[in-house]
Amino acid sequence: MISHETFDIICWIWIAVAVIIFPILLKVKQPYGRHSKNNWGPMINNRLGWFIMEFPSLAIFGYFVIFKANLLNALILLPAFLWMLHYIHRVLIFPLQIRTARKKIPVLIVLLAFIFNIINGFLNGYWFVQFAPDYRSGVLINLRLIAGVIIFISGFAINKYHDSILIKLRPTSGNGYKIPYGGLFEYVSCPNFLGEIISWSGFALVAFNLPALSFLVWTIVNLTTRALDHHRWYIKEFPEYDKERRALIPFLL
Ligand code: NDP
Repeated sequence: MISHETFDIICWIWIAVAVIIFPILLKVKQPYGRHSKNNWGPMINNRLGWFIMEFPSLAIFGYFVIFKANLLNALILLPAFLWMLHYIHRVLIFPLQIRTARKKIPVLIVLLAFIFNIINGFLNGYWFVQFAPDYRSGVLINLRLIAGVIIFISGFAINKYHDSILIKLRPTSGNGYKIPYGGLFEYVSCPNFLGEIISWSGFALVAFNLPALSFLVWTIVNLTTRALDHHRWYIKEFPEYDKERRALIPFLL
């Protein structure tokens, strides 16, 4: 059993790692999808890679909350539901939706993301088993939960809607890219990433704990830097690309 104090220290270290990695990711493009490179070692099938790297978040978190935690406690049930909703889609549906025929992803990236998801799934799941407070109805708690769920669902919808626009841009064969239009693509290059960040902000509000905060920080680090890389890539590849579009946040970034 891990003490609360030790657990919190681990979470703060985990957050510090994300902060240290941020300037590195501003310089080094994450080498998958359009930034994929052959010089990152052996590669595996993209679909399989997505399944493998995301699976620990579903399995480890799921194991803790379903078999070890008290799901009658609304402070556990609600965040558990949101997490499982996201990861059932990400692990079991998303890899089948993407149209990345014959595309490959570096094993190293899959391995790093796999390790990340083991740590992330463990920290987030374990907290609910060991440290979750009992639910006591109160106006402030209820408002926080309602706001968090609304924010999560909004982000989830934004993420899925814009991911599906991107996926449909590509015919069933080929691996080419087109300029996406519609929805928030009129304002930013990566509204799917914006939706993901909004989702995990909502989750952090519902869960209200350090592991959820650490996941939010990691998501911001990963997706802000990737959005900036995607945005520069669009401008370079498509001379007609709308110069008014931002990378991630309408009118700002
Ligand atoms: P991308 O936006 O790079 O790609 C999403 C899918 O759409 C891919 O299959 C991609 O193909 C395809 N696609 C993207 N742009 C175009 C285009 N212009 N024309 C045709 N096809 C296109 O997202 P990621 O692959 O980086 O991420 C996928 C999901 O995972 C997102 O929802 C993201 O939010 C989430 N994610 C979450 C992270 C977190 O830290 N929480 C970290 C990373 C991702 P291809 O792969 O061939 O480029």
